[in-house]
Amino acid sequence: MTFESLGLSPELLRAIAEQGYTEPTPIQAQAIPVVLAGQDVQAAAQTGTGKTAGFTLPILHRLQPFANTSVSPAKHPIRCLVLTPTRELAAQVEESVKNYGKYVPLRSTVIYGGINMQPQIKALQGGVEIVVATPGRLLDHVQQRTINLSQVEILVLDEADRMLDMGFIPDIRRIVALLPAQRQNLLFSATFSDDIKKLSGGILRNPVTIEVARRNATADLVRQVIYAVHKDRKRELLTHLIRTLPIPQAIVFMRTKHGANRLCTQLERDGINAAAIHSDKTQSHRTKSLADFKEGQVNILVATDIAARGLDVDQMPYVVNFELPHVPEDYVHRIGRTGRAGSPGNAISLVSDEESRELADIEKLIKTKIEVASVEGFDSPRAEAPQRAHARSERPEEARAPRPPRAPQPQTQPEVEAPADEAPVRRHATPPRASAASAHFSRPPVASLGKKPREVPALLGGLLKKTS
Ligand code: AMP
Repeated sequence: MTFESLGLSPELLRAIAEQGYTEPTPIQAQAIPVVLAGQDVQAAAQTGTGKTAGFTLPILHRLQPFANTSVSPAKHPIRCLVLTPTRELAAQVEESVKNYGKYVPLRSTVIYGGINMQPQIKALQGGVEIVVATPGRLLDHVQQRTINLSQVEILVLDEADRMLDMGFIPDIRRIVALLPAQRQNLLFSATFSDDIKKLSGGILRNPVTIEVARRNATADLVRQVIYAVHKDRKRELLTHLIRTLPIPQAIVFMRTKHGANRLCTQLERDGINAAAIHSDKTQSHRTKSLADFKEGQVNILVATDIAARGLDVDQMPYVVNFELPHVPEDYVHRIGRTGRAGSPGNAISLVSDEESRELADIEKLIKTKIEVASVEGFDSPRAEAPQRAHARSERPEEARAPRPPRAPQPQTQPEVEAPADEAPVRRHATPPRASAASAHFSRPPVASLGKKPREVPALLGGLLKKTS
């Protein structure tokens, strides 16, 4: 399969060649012909599969006959609207549109919150065929009548599952109501939960369903490891691992913005170049942190789940879960940041006694008991000795200290990050539990956890079956 055989225009093929792509990824091979044929698509594909080019290339091809260099804004109505959950993803998608469309005179712009509306208004007034936007800011433009969506022919919902998690669905419905009824709809989502099916059922018409495996994060490419450690010593252990493994670059995941800021300051005090990235940071700060990280000036990017989603950082050697996420699917999203493009990745989780429930939920979702490693002097003094056959020291000389049984720990409700565009928050925070009756390594029967298991995405469940 080649891009030529997909029937893309010479201008697009030239841009693709300049990107250095030699063949389409599976999502591209499947989605491009369907989009070119004008059909609706619902695709289960995550970041890293090449999904952006999978919809951008055929859209550019379809819009190419309308491309013109007229100075009249009326000659450049909005024909394609791409909605994304985060500012970063919006910026990255629009960058892809510009890259792939560099030899086609179609105009595009990006619209997101947190920055001045005036330059966006100016770009819209000048006329653009493709708008990539986050829902909140787009609706601001609708309210101020600075955008006209009456000629949109193609709607893309990118990372629809995230938009759902972030409470954007009412905004999306409001936006969809403003579009012409006759249009093509493309929906991309990491998973096909019932909620996503409900959303797509209301928006898509006879969609072609496409499911592809993540391009590179295959079982063999992500080595998952847990370090059991007291919560107060996590920062110290992280610094130790960064120095001794060593970890040249990593995304470190935190549950809260406050925690991300604090950890970032502490790491810098330890002499480690770190930057925090979350929705309270200004857009210019986030863009700069990401650029510094990509250039290697920043080694550790401390991020919340929402801010990290959609970050286009390939071939990350390490992902660190400083805290386990409350939502097990977030763990899968997090570790998907590593092990890309054929290079091996490492997902390290620092797990305290209080997180045994989260760990159990994650292992249930990924159907894998995660390997346990330890560093002498850092083992959680209250945790039980690991009882797993595959548990082993990270380094041969580092023996694990035996762990006495631990007492149940009370749980506190997490601080939850608001989405970037101040949409209503609907995160699946786990409610506080009276006691975490299980220790990490002596698991109670799952039924006794008292929580209805969440839907296991078939795709990811299968992919991550044997990761250790
Ligand atoms: P995405 O899943 O759209 O975020 O894309 C992930 C990465 O894959 C991006 O850095 C793209 O530049 C890259 N990519 C997309 N399509 C191809 C391809 N056909 N061959 C090689 N790399 C690609």
